[in-house]
Amino acid sequence: MSNFLKRRDRLRKVIRHERAEALLVTNPVNVTYLTGFTGGDSYLLVTQATDLLLSDPRYEEQIGEESPGLATFIRQPGELLSEVTVRELNKLELKSLAVEGDHLTVNTFDGWQRELNVESLLKGSGWVEGLRAIKDKVELAAIRRAIDVAERVFTSVRAQLSARQSERDVANEIERLTRAMGGAACAFKPIVAVGPRSALPHATPGECLMGSSPFVLIDWGAIVDGYRSDLTRVLLTSRIPPKFAKVYETVLAAQTAAIEALKPGVMVSQVDQIARDVIARAGMGPRFNHGLGHGIGLDIHEAPRMSKKLDQPLVAGMVVTVEPGIYYTGWGGVRIEDDVLITADGYELLSSLPRSLSENTAPLLLG
Ligand code: ZN
Ligand code: ZN
Repeated sequence: MSNFLKRRDRLRKVIRHERAEALLVTNPVNVTYLTGFTGGDSYLLVTQATDLLLSDPRYEEQIGEESPGLATFIRQPGELLSEVTVRELNKLELKSLAVEGDHLTVNTFDGWQRELNVESLLKGSGWVEGLRAIKDKVELAAIRRAIDVAERVFTSVRAQLSARQSERDVANEIERLTRAMGGAACAFKPIVAVGPRSALPHATPGECLMGSSPFVLIDWGAIVDGYRSDLTRVLLTSRIPPKFAKVYETVLAAQTAAIEALKPGVMVSQVDQIARDVIARAGMGPRFNHGLGHGIGLDIHEAPRMSKKLDQPLVAGMVVTVEPGIYYTGWGGVRIEDDVLITADGYELLSSLPRSLSENTAPLLLG
């Protein structure tokens, strides 16, 4: 049985459990997860008995290649996807249909409520995302490759880091090397932030030079076979600045404590708290101003969100980032981020770049 059919069968259980007859999947990433089809403008209907992909002529050949055997309805040129959806679904005489409330627009939902012949139109939330949180073997292998590419890119960038390179130069180099080393693209626009700019969690790479500050924060990842990696390292590029070692060691201790607490059954809020406590004990509690991490997969941010507000237990097969940080406006920030698999009895650290401060010093080439 294909992996995709297995995933759809798992979804059928969720649909039954939620007391719906069928789910119309409109989020394109969810469609990809359930079918392998990577194009857009297509909806997937999953009922207890059948699956039907509603698509258009541009994709006919691609669907045949990526999703062999999948029942497909190809609309005529000029027909709107939402109209065809109403027409084809009305033929099935479903009593209850669920749609993806996190994705569908209010306008489409209102239109369908008028036009669809179903007794109840339900708003589902997180049904497919919940399945996606737990990775199967194929997905895990792709994530491992995405991490491997990202790590090789970083090692190469680091070895060539020069004082005259700007943040933008380094970001461009990361993008170029990611493709050269086997990635489809970067998992997101790389963040390269020197000194004070590293205090901005989403700094856009600019003209600041590597040589203008004693450290640089790099947050990057790769996509391989649709799956993403997400890593962050801070490189010390010259003499150690005041309070840097204390900040770095505190972030590393918080990250290590959180990683070591990962295992099935532990609440994500507990793990977040463990990291937060380490930073608070060092007197820098308020400086850790974001969540601990997030799931990675087909999306860069997906379930489970690692947040102090979420009482969600970890489950074997989840892949999450652990990325505490400490930030001082005007001085800079330190964040260390790794990707971790939850295993049956604990965790496996998937990323392998060294994390200690002594192993993250990178004297700049004069260039
Ligand atoms: Zn990141
Ligand atoms: Zn991240």
